[in-house]
Amino acid sequence: MSAATLLAVGNWKMNTTVQEAMALASDVRRRLEDDPPGGVQTVLCPPFISLAPLHDLLKDSNIALGAQNLHPQTSGAFTGEISPTMLQGLCRYVIVGHSERRHIMREGYHVVGQKVKAAVDAGLTPIICVGETLSQRRQGAAEAVVRRQLETGLSGIADPRHVVIAYEPVWAIGAGVPATPVVVADITGGAIRTELANLYDDATAQKIAVLYGGSVNPENVTAFLEQPSIQGALVGGASLDAAQFAQIVRLTAEAKGTD
Ligand code: PEP
Repeated sequence: MSAATLLAVGNWKMNTTVQEAMALASDVRRRLEDDPPGGVQTVLCPPFISLAPLHDLLKDSNIALGAQNLHPQTSGAFTGEISPTMLQGLCRYVIVGHSERRHIMREGYHVVGQKVKAAVDAGLTPIICVGETLSQRRQGAAEAVVRRQLETGLSGIADPRHVVIAYEPVWAIGAGVPATPVVVADITGGAIRTELANLYDDATAQKIAVLYGGSVNPENVTAFLEQPSIQGALVGGASLDAAQFAQIVRLTAEAKGTD
């Protein structure tokens, strides 16, 4: 359906020491180098402290790095925060608005929009996470929530070519049970594309990569990727296992026929 880049993104969350991160990244790299799958950009998002060592470790590979968060300001008195300027040169991608940050750290719509703009201004590609909670879904508000998250998240972005959207229903993250492909396709092919076309235009909306995230593993990923409105996966738990994550990258290429 679209010319959007295919992506397999591993979000390691608050897991791995620097040494463990280096071992895991080396293992993923080795598994993908043995028989490299074509047409899929692999992205690893380790904790901040592992970005510099992994940048050196992966510099001659096809694996890109992403951060898990950033602060909207470039510098200043924000103890414990990491700015877009600090990420420049270390990673190409940055996850913004993950549900754990929206719900546990109480990041609101406005700050997510500021972070998206800061990332794009710094030349980074934000992976903007959107998704409804279970109670919002039960109230029939899933589409409205996702559309509002997109509208506010993209409010400062005139040119969304270097933006990735990840649809991650909150109730499917870390749950062990993913959403069904039909439910996901309903949002990725419906509310998300409609809102993107509304904010920009149809052709632009088709070119933006939309990922699915929520309990993805090698057993279920193909069913999601068979949906034309999904261009890859954002993977949490299974990305901590090199064999499983490399398999997900391979299955992405197979499902989309790029291998
Ligand atoms: C995530 O952290 O973005 C995620 C989708 O986690 P999991 O795959 O573990 O559900």
